[in-house]
Amino acid sequence: KSVVAIVGKPNVGKSTIFNRLVGERIAIVEDVPGVTRDRIYAEAEWLNTTFNLIDTGGIEIGDEPLMVQMRTQAEIAIEESDVIIFMIDGKEGVTAADEEVTRMLFKSSKPVVLAVNKMDNPEMRDRIYEFYSLGFGEPYPISGSHGLGLGDLLDEVVKHFPERDIEEDDEDTIHFSLIGRPNVGKSSLVNSILGEERVIVSEVAGTTRDAIDTSFEKDNQDFVIIDTAGMRKRGKVYEKTEKYSVLRALKAIERSDVVLAVLDADTGIIEQDKRIAGYAHEAGKAVIIVVNKWDTVEKDDKTMKEFEDKVRQDFQFLDYAPVVFLSALTKKRMHTLLPRIIQASENHAKRVQTNLLNEVIMDSLALNPTPSIKGRKLKILYATQVAVKPPTFVVFVNDPELMHFTFKRFLENRIREAFGFEGTPIKIYARQRK
Ligand code: GDP
Repeated sequence: KSVVAIVGKPNVGKSTIFNRLVGERIAIVEDVPGVTRDRIYAEAEWLNTTFNLIDTGGIEIGDEPLMVQMRTQAEIAIEESDVIIFMIDGKEGVTAADEEVTRMLFKSSKPVVLAVNKMDNPEMRDRIYEFYSLGFGEPYPISGSHGLGLGDLLDEVVKHFPERDIEEDDEDTIHFSLIGRPNVGKSSLVNSILGEERVIVSEVAGTTRDAIDTSFEKDNQDFVIIDTAGMRKRGKVYEKTEKYSVLRALKAIERSDVVLAVLDADTGIIEQDKRIAGYAHEAGKAVIIVVNKWDTVEKDDKTMKEFEDKVRQDFQFLDYAPVVFLSALTKKRMHTLLPRIIQASENHAKRVQTNLLNEVIMDSLALNPTPSIKGRKLKILYATQVAVKPPTFVVFVNDPELMHFTFKRFLENRIREAFGFEGTPIKIYARQRK
């Protein structure tokens, strides 16, 4: 998917535009308790093309002066995106900071579309000509608060999307990534996986900006590791900011089938771990919780169970994710990882037969009758799987409002028991059918 970044001064209206372009989609995502949604990177759609949008204004770079902030954001945009929307305040005109950004964007080879915001009425639009002088071609007058001009702007943006090579590797290749806070051992895990016996590393491609992709094969199964950790520590200021690493992680997650949420047994679980794992869940990917550095823990026969209970408690939203204990350092239990990844990936792409699905649901209703709300009883007519990755089901009912959370949960558990969806989230939607 192409990536579009918005750059511009503070208060020029970047987040208003960002929210307008991705707004509805964010609202649709179900609420997950304890998971904060990131607002700097999201999917948007125009003319049947989906792309990802970055609001560089959301990446705070400490309390640096304005000029430094803007320079940094422009750098991020240049590095991370295919097309840049450079936004200027039409009321204020071109400022010194805008000129600085202009110089930087010129030096890069990325296509830039100039958006002049706050052009709320037609008279103001006459002033658009002064912005030609910046040298980005036609300036697009928009009004974020009124939602004007966005169509023309996006038409132009979409024109600059690069032709994507169709991904060469076939459907059967499993893409996975490792996410986790610094020092939990992501790089060590990557090395350990690639160093395992009978793993044949075929190709290391530093082709994408975001990550190093390594292809390998084991027992006739092809894998690609998307390694963001290996790209770190190049020394730029912004690479140390948390929002920036989140952006990187989100991009890697998006390209993955399976995400390994890595924890550090030595330091234990902290708030940041939950937030990071939440991103994988929200993206609807298969997830495995990997407890690394298990060698550092003094163990008796209850230790693993206790740690797992703690993980379950802290990561309730990942109740479908298996927990794997291992050590990248001593390689103990490393061999359990790839089979788990394969299993999670298969479940993520699994399709169940409609007749079997309906049998399971009807059988479970015999055990647990549908609820009634204010005397009205939920009726289930039939269900069908409408998508994979993750498996998504639509249940046709007399009134979707009667299908409340706990009953949905009950259905989900029945479906999981019957078909085995370990490692993957599944989604269930209720639709009305009279
Ligand atoms: P990353 O930032 O998540 O990529 O973490 P690194 O792979 O750089 O590892 C951080 C530190 O933890 C390094 O000093 C590693 O040697 C150490 N480390 C990684 N895995 C293990 C492990 O399984 N056991 C122990 N004891 N140390 C580990």
